[in-house]
Amino acid sequence: MKAARLFGAKDLRVVDVPEPESPGAGDILIKVKAVGICGSDLHMYENGRIGYTDQSDVFTLGHEFMGEVVAVGEGALDGHFEPLQVGQRVAVDPCTPCYECEMCEQGHPNLCLHHTFYGLFPEDGALQECMIVHGRNCFPIPDSISDGGGTLLETLGVAIHTVDLAKLKVAKSLAIIGCGPVGLLILGLAKKAGAYPIYAFDKFDWRLEKAREWGADEVFNVDQVDGVQALMDATNGRGCDTVIEAAWADHSIQMAAEMAAYGGRLVLVGIPGDDQLHMQHAVARRKGLTIMMCRRMKHTYPRAIAIATTGMVNIDELISHHFPLEDTPEAFAKNFNYDQGVHKIIIDV
Ligand SMILES: [Zn+2]
Ligand SMILES: [Zn+2]
Repeated sequence: MKAARLFGAKDLRVVDVPEPESPGAGDILIKVKAVGICGSDLHMYENGRIGYTDQSDVFTLGHEFMGEVVAVGEGALDGHFEPLQVGQRVAVDPCTPCYECEMCEQGHPNLCLHHTFYGLFPEDGALQECMIVHGRNCFPIPDSISDGGGTLLETLGVAIHTVDLAKLKVAKSLAIIGCGPVGLLILGLAKKAGAYPIYAFDKFDWRLEKAREWGADEVFNVDQVDGVQALMDATNGRGCDTVIEAAWADHSIQMAAEMAAYGGRLVLVGIPGDDQLHMQHAVARRKGLTIMMCRRMKHTYPRAIAIATTGMVNIDELISHHFPLEDTPEAFAKNFNYDQGVHKIIIDV
């Protein structure tokens, strides 16, 4: 069978790999149907590393994915602890916590000390035709959620966790820096949570157009105006109650601190390429900011499925391109270059 494997920085190749064997106890075999490309995949693609995870051998990317169950290992239960069945369509949470460390015990599986992660070296991801995954990571999805939409539940899960951390309140102001898929999903959820007004910032006009469509009250292109100044002008110099940073530029953290009101709250979601957090201490200290870092998500798939099926946020609108598995290298190059009109690219396996 085919798999798209990363051989080193910007060296992605579609190659033949052996078919997986039959699934062991608790595991299932899925035929992968769709995989989304994520900003963190682009970090790996660009540098062969993310954070302090270095890639030291060839491996398969892809952590936003869904598929169809083709074989069920003994006693395999899904994420709701129900038996899995052949033919079910399932979205897969890529993160496997150990369920038996202090963080897991305290209800923070996203901070598990021993977790593994599909699509992060050394664990192979989903850019392959078939794959064995743990049943507990799988959440059956209804037919009303498209294959591409099924992959976006992972992204949506991160947005849900972010909005949880942000503790948004009705008619309290919000600034969102970065209108990629995560930023836009945060915007969609923030609207539902009642944040107002919402200001959105990005350097690409087509993303800002989407932000406006999704209900941002004002949008600013940070390549054309000074984002901080623009926000201060719009808020009479006060800034925003909450600022969410969902970009991956190093100056955007500093921007976030400058945009926050006194006593405000920052939630940092973006992962900077240089793995450094740049923020002037005095700005954050004098304002007495509360700063939260978003690490993955908790048990958010059931909520993400509810949001997708009720149409609370129309996740399909974020899918701008589809590529077949054979064209994965072209899809990554297109996403990496931020070509005009790119929101979320889906690989149809
Ligand atoms: Zn991701
Ligand atoms: Zn754990």
